[in-house]
Amino acid sequence: MATIETNLQANLQAIRRRIAVAAQACGREPAEVALVAVSKTFGADAIAAAYSCGQHAFGENYVQEALDKLTALQTLRIEWHFIGPIQSNKTRLIAGNFAWVHGVERLKIAERLSAARPPHLAPLQICIEVNIGGEGSKSGVAPVDTLAFARAIATLPRLQLRGLMAIPPACEDVVQQRRHFGALRELKAQLAADGIKLDTLSMGMSADFEAAIAEGATLVRVGTSIFGARPDHASARAANANPLE
Ligand SMILES: *Cc1c(COP(=O)(O)O)cnc(C)c1O
Repeated sequence: MATIETNLQANLQAIRRRIAVAAQACGREPAEVALVAVSKTFGADAIAAAYSCGQHAFGENYVQEALDKLTALQTLRIEWHFIGPIQSNKTRLIAGNFAWVHGVERLKIAERLSAARPPHLAPLQICIEVNIGGEGSKSGVAPVDTLAFARAIATLPRLQLRGLMAIPPACEDVVQQRRHFGALRELKAQLAADGIKLDTLSMGMSADFEAAIAEGATLVRVGTSIFGARPDHASARAANANPLE
């Protein structure tokens, strides 16, 4: 686990300010853009420090790592977002412990999440992951398949379909970044025209959240710019690659 960044508060303030500037630059209210602080690989102490700076939504990628932190922080009113790849043997733990799941891309997984959502909790808030860049190596539903997938998800009783999520190909060119985010925005508009009304566009990370906001992001997922670099990122990814069913 990486240590707490001493400048966590300054980082959070800087990100909130950049979100506000990016929103106002395109005539949007800063409050329209939710910030999910991505805390994977960082410990409960870092999350508690961010919480005390007023950050209440956190994103985690790995179930077991997340559960340790959820347990340690259960007295705090944290909104937990699951943003990692979803293994079907982890759906019960995810459904029982998280408020939101981004990255839903298979109906079987969605059905399992719905079936496992405990009755005393509000419906699980869902974003469909879309492979907006059309990359062969990336996860996500193809844009052309998204409407049918969304209709299927909308029938599941314990899920509440909120929006679309994407991780476009990394690039430094803002024009290219905006092209992909704009495509996700247009896909959401297309679904609305077909009767599926969604209120969430989960897009934008440390390197590109301003471009995402310019294209209508309502939720940005920012890790590195808040908590610092993840030294153990590569090993954490390797340990979670090739999920076993
Ligand atoms: C790790 C991660 C993020 C945060 O990425 P940063 O570049 O550290 O801001 C956002 N979304 C997802 C799905 C992630 O896995």
